[in-house]
Amino acid sequence: MITLQVLRREPVSPHFVRLTLTGSGLEHLERSGPDQAVRLFFPRSGQSRLEMPTTSSLAWMPQLRLLPQARRPWVRMYTVRAVRPELHELDVELALHDPAAPAAAWALAARPGDPVGIFDEGFTYVPRPHAEWQLLVGDESALPAISAILERAPSSLVARVFLEVPEAADVRPDVVRPDGVEILWVTREGRDGPPGAAVLDAVMRADLPPGPSYTWVAGESRLPTGLRRHLVEERGVAKSDITFVGYWREGRAAPG
Ligand SMILES: Cc1cc2nc3c(=O)[nH]c(=O)nc-3n(C[C@H](O)[C@H](O)[C@H](O)COP(=O)(O)OP(=O)(O)OC[C@H]3O[C@@H](n4cnc5c(N)ncnc54)[C@H](O)[C@@H]3O)c2cc1C
Repeated sequence: MITLQVLRREPVSPHFVRLTLTGSGLEHLERSGPDQAVRLFFPRSGQSRLEMPTTSSLAWMPQLRLLPQARRPWVRMYTVRAVRPELHELDVELALHDPAAPAAAWALAARPGDPVGIFDEGFTYVPRPHAEWQLLVGDESALPAISAILERAPSSLVARVFLEVPEAADVRPDVVRPDGVEILWVTREGRDGPPGAAVLDAVMRADLPPGPSYTWVAGESRLPTGLRRHLVEERGVAKSDITFVGYWREGRAAPG
């Protein structure tokens, strides 16, 4: 359990806010996989201080639940987008699904000095050694993870990336990536259907490269499950070559 403070808040695009967190406790955060994520603890509105669990084992969750709501912080998962150890800085990028939802509302109002806590949750991106190319798919919640994966990828990486964002102004043309990586951006503008449906549709229609692959997909829960089903049933991909992670649920608050 590491307690930090907000150092900066920067709007990135209509549906994204970047927060830079700081504190000497960052010395204790061991950098792991490129999509490494942390539980982010932040105060509920009206709470003047942040009460963090004291245990660093998995017992933190029951410990948190025992706190009365008046003292219990919110908890949400976020990808470690960047770390600058020499400056004691860590960036997270929050997609704003609903400005009234707890994390989004907190991020939009965050000010320098506000307390925040993190707990390392590790990573899920584990490319298979036999994969000749990779398929990376996500909605806006997975944009930080996919950006971090591409930034830290070997220059030899061959990948097809499909990313969905709410609107054209959320597209990041400057994503750093190896030459062999092709990105297709999809927006939800003018479309019906849940988040993730547009990008799922784009992958289903795509002419994908032959040869053994590794897939990493994350986003609104229907996207990873839908894509996995498609790849296994329609394209004959082995389940073991797919990492799929439900990052959030439309219309349903995350637990905590
Ligand atoms: C490993 C991992 C890494 C992640 N990394 C990132 C990241 O880097 N960036 C990122 O943006 N996200 C990331 N996510 C996803 C993020 O954790 C969720 O999007 C998070 O739940 C958002 O919190 P929130 O408080 O904004 O929305 P939530 O409270 O979780 O709400 C989710 C949805 O439910 C709706 N909702 C909430 N409460 C109600 C209610 N009472 N009635 C009806 N509807 C409701 C909201 O409108 C919203 O659409 C990650 C998730 C995981 C698992």
